[in-house]
Amino acid sequence: MLLTTNFSLDEFESKDGSSMPYTVLQNVKELANALQVIRDHFGVPVTITSGYRSPAHNDTIEGAVKGSQHTLGKAADLKVQGKTAREMYDGIEMLIDKGLIPQGGLGLYSNRVHYDIRGTKARWGVSADNAKKGFLGVLGGLVLTWFIGKQMGL
Ligand SMILES: [Zn+2]
Repeated sequence: MLLTTNFSLDEFESKDGSSMPYTVLQNVKELANALQVIRDHFGVPVTITSGYRSPAHNDTIEGAVKGSQHTLGKAADLKVQGKTAREMYDGIEMLIDKGLIPQGGLGLYSNRVHYDIRGTKARWGVSADNAKKGFLGVLGGLVLTWFIGKQMGL
């Protein structure tokens, strides 16, 4: 069943073959509308690597949060043809800022992004990345200062 111009229901199905409860299906339809806006923005195919996960299937995924937005049919992990995860993340953030897609969760991974329509703002991946860079940058600066000081006999 086609949900939007480019997304069909089977792309969102749980990988363990569980059928979607009615409320999940309603969420998936809303999510598909947002993904279509994302797809139109990039103008290239968008692959859903993980959509709805039945609670049982979600439990088998390493690192997955219990009660994840995926188990509600509100989340999708995405790959966009020819785009880096960072480019996808920034593009989706811009669409949220413009109010073209719902506010929600946005996570940056090495080769994909997670987007969900939980309604409240949640971000991960990027800030953790920046914090690490910031810390290493500060540490590097201190070591360099110490080294130069030592060389100059200060
Ligand atoms: Zn996800």
